[in-house]
Amino acid sequence: MEEYICKKCSQLYPTCCALNDEQNIIFPLSNLEIEQIKKETKEEFFFLEKVTAEFLNNLKKIFPEDKKIFSFFKEKKSYFRLNIANKKCIFLTSKGCSLKVKNRPFFCKIYPFWVINRKIVFFKDNNCFAQKKSNQVKELLKIFGYEPEYIFQLYENYKNNLIG
Ligand code: SF4
Repeated sequence: MEEYICKKCSQLYPTCCALNDEQNIIFPLSNLEIEQIKKETKEEFFFLEKVTAEFLNNLKKIFPEDKKIFSFFKEKKSYFRLNIANKKCIFLTSKGCSLKVKNRPFFCKIYPFWVINRKIVFFKDNNCFAQKKSNQVKELLKIFGYEPEYIFQLYENYKNNLIG
């Protein structure tokens, strides 16, 4: 189901894999994610971005209960992130993401869901095809065909690999 939703969104809207003028991709890539993507492509898909005050502020917002992540990046000068071209992730095509689901970054797999204080939440996105059908976490999980455990597992894996 998820593939269908993402494909449909990518044909109708700018999608969550593209940016508007005010947005910036804040999600850092872990070494594990980079190695995973390298199995599928020889393209230059990531680069080193400076750690800025804005980046650190955003990290605080998305990991409010995890000070380790904030401290880890505060000590660093840069972090890896996905390449973009024309304000879109380089892997975004008219058919959605060109990467196999298993090789996508954790954040891409978990989106639009997230975990805050051990609760599943979701990033509000007016263009999300699934969110046009429901704005309840339970219902959205059903639409995507995800069990709550899957979301918790992705979230933990992402956190652990970021600072691992
Ligand atoms: S890797 Fe795929 S899912 Fe992730 S931002 Fe790029 S196009 Fe979107």
